[in-house]
Amino acid sequence: MPEAAYLDYAATAPIDPAAVAAITAAAAAWANPSSVHRAGRSAQTMLEDARDRVAGALGCAPGAVIFTGGGTEAIGLALASAGAASLLVSGVEHDAVRAQARGATVIPVDSSGRVDLAALTALLAAAPAPVLVAVMQANNETGVVQPLAEVAALVDAAGGRLLVDAVQAAGKLPLPPGDFIAVSAHKLGGPPGVGALIVRCLDGFAAPRAGGGQERGYRAGTENLPGIAGFAAALGARQADHGWLSRTAALRDRLEAQLDGAEVIGAAAERLGTISNIRMAGVAASTQVMAFDLAGFAVSAGAACSSGKVGPSHVLAAMGLGERAASEAIRVSIGWRTTAAEVDGFAAAWNALAARQRAKAA
Ligand code: PLP
Repeated sequence: MPEAAYLDYAATAPIDPAAVAAITAAAAAWANPSSVHRAGRSAQTMLEDARDRVAGALGCAPGAVIFTGGGTEAIGLALASAGAASLLVSGVEHDAVRAQARGATVIPVDSSGRVDLAALTALLAAAPAPVLVAVMQANNETGVVQPLAEVAALVDAAGGRLLVDAVQAAGKLPLPPGDFIAVSAHKLGGPPGVGALIVRCLDGFAAPRAGGGQERGYRAGTENLPGIAGFAAALGARQADHGWLSRTAALRDRLEAQLDGAEVIGAAAERLGTISNIRMAGVAASTQVMAFDLAGFAVSAGAACSSGKVGPSHVLAAMGLGERAASEAIRVSIGWRTTAAEVDGFAAAWNALAARQRAKAA
């Protein structure tokens, strides 16, 4: 019997013990950071300390960090504040971007899911200014990394601004170029419901929602201090564990190398070492997910991180996969606590299901 495992880190990662400790400590010392009494001032110090640590871990100035209630809110804050006349959005963006960027023009991607730079150049030339372009750093279904240096140069040359959804990549890849960068705590061992928008230049940045003057007036609402402290602690834990990214990438490679007859989607492109999108020909993704669940492995079909719904993947469709092929692909995602035994156990379960399918088809 293979060892069972949680292999759905791209949906949400197990919370790190360091984050739990930081949340508990911040909750125990609870006061509103805006209060003027001593406890409030101490909470304010804790908040600014967490901001310094998040900025230090991500590689930006503390003043650029606006804490939010997660990645989705950070993206919404950027979209609402940018005052763009034209929105250009890559065809593989998460729904957190697609659903909030209403009326956006879609930038096509190539067969690896990377933005078509020639198409972006043409769209930038035609779009009425001011233009906001949204391209993610790494895709949540395939792990494919976007050519953001090239994208940023094109956007810059056209006088536009760039929003990068770095929710999956934060803490794993260097902070990308971009005017607005959205990050989230729960993909790397922090709590859900906490994130940040990093704004490289705050000149002219206006808060879209009225309310209290928290976050220097850029994001109203009492700060989630325990969550923010947990976010900083999780980032710190990942940073302190120097080998974790290469260890995880090696596990991902070890997994893929063991699969007999799998098609790994996006394998030709640079990918995050934590996500593998795997097609088993002839078996619907929903059937695979249920079979693996029964065998003790938590994986997901596409971007099922939202509501458990499993629909056709717009990401795989944008990459040119046919409906049938796209409906047979699952996402396996690993992270800070994944072991070789878990990966080997899943590979054995995958091979057993694929062998049963081949026997049925023969
Ligand atoms: N962007 C990407 C690429 C994601 O994977 C997710 C989470 O599923 C989000 C945005 C939303 O982030 P959050 O859950 O923090 O709102």
